Amino acid sequence: MNMPLVKPVVLLVEDEPAQRKILEYNLEADGFKVVSAGDGEQALVLVEEVFPDLVLLDWMLPNVSGIEVCRRIKAKSQTRLLPIILISARTEEADRVRGLETGADDYVIKPYSVAELMARVRAQLRRTRPSAIGQILEYKDIVLNSEAHRVTRGGRQLKLGPTEFRLLSTFMEKPGRVWSREQLLDRVWGRDIYVDTRTVDVHIGRLRKVLCKHGGEDLLRTVRGAGYSLG
Ligand code: CA
Repeated sequence: MNMPLVKPVVLLVEDEPAQRKILEYNLEADGFKVVSAGDGEQALVLVEEVFPDLVLLDWMLPNVSGIEVCRRIKAKSQTRLLPIILISARTEEADRVRGLETGADDYVIKPYSVAELMARVRAQLRRTRPSAIGQILEYKDIVLNSEAHRVTRGGRQLKLGPTEFRLLSTFMEKPGRVWSREQLLDRVWGRDIYVDTRTVDVHIGRLRKVLCKHGGEDLLRTVRGAGYSLG
C-alpha cells in the first residue's frame, strides 16, 4: 500500500483572486498543500509561521513588493535556502536579471503555462524535498524508498509505522539538520492536528528502536533543548 507522505507546503503570494484560485487549484491537484497570502506583509508572516517548502511569489504586490519579500526571505539564515519562484508580467531581460539577483531560484513570466509552472515547482522541490517527489533517499546504510514505502538498513527490510516512516523521511531529507519538536509536529502530523509534543518523543523512541533492531549505531541524535537530528 502506498502511504501518503507529508505534502510539501507551497506558500502562494498573489494579490489577484482569480490568479490565486487557478494556482491554488492546480497546486492542490498536484498534491501540494497550499497556504495563500494576498500581499507581501502577510507572506513574510506566513513564512515564519508555516515553514513552507517553496514560495510562489508574484512580483507586483500591494505594499511590500515581491522583490522585497524575496530579498527579506533570502537575507535570513533560517529561510535563506527556501526556494522561491518569482512570477512577473515584466519581460525585460534586465528585470529577469534583477529577479535572480535578489536570490529568486527561478523566474516565470506572465502569461505562463500552468503546466510549465508546475514542472518548475516540482524541479525546485526535487532538489530540496526529494522524498516528497518520490525519490530514493540514502543515509549511511539506511535506504528509504518513498514510492514503495520501504526502508532497509544494511540491506535488511525494516517495518515502520506510518508516523515513524514520515519522521524518518523528514530526517533523511536533511541529515544533520536539528528539528524542534514543534517543527516535527508541523511536518509529520500537520499543523491542523493537535498533538502533544511528548508524542513526538514517543514516536522517536519507536523509530530509534526499529532502526537499531538488527544492531548498528544509533543514528538519531537528541539535541538537548533543541530537538532531534539524524547523524
Ligand atoms: Ca499582482
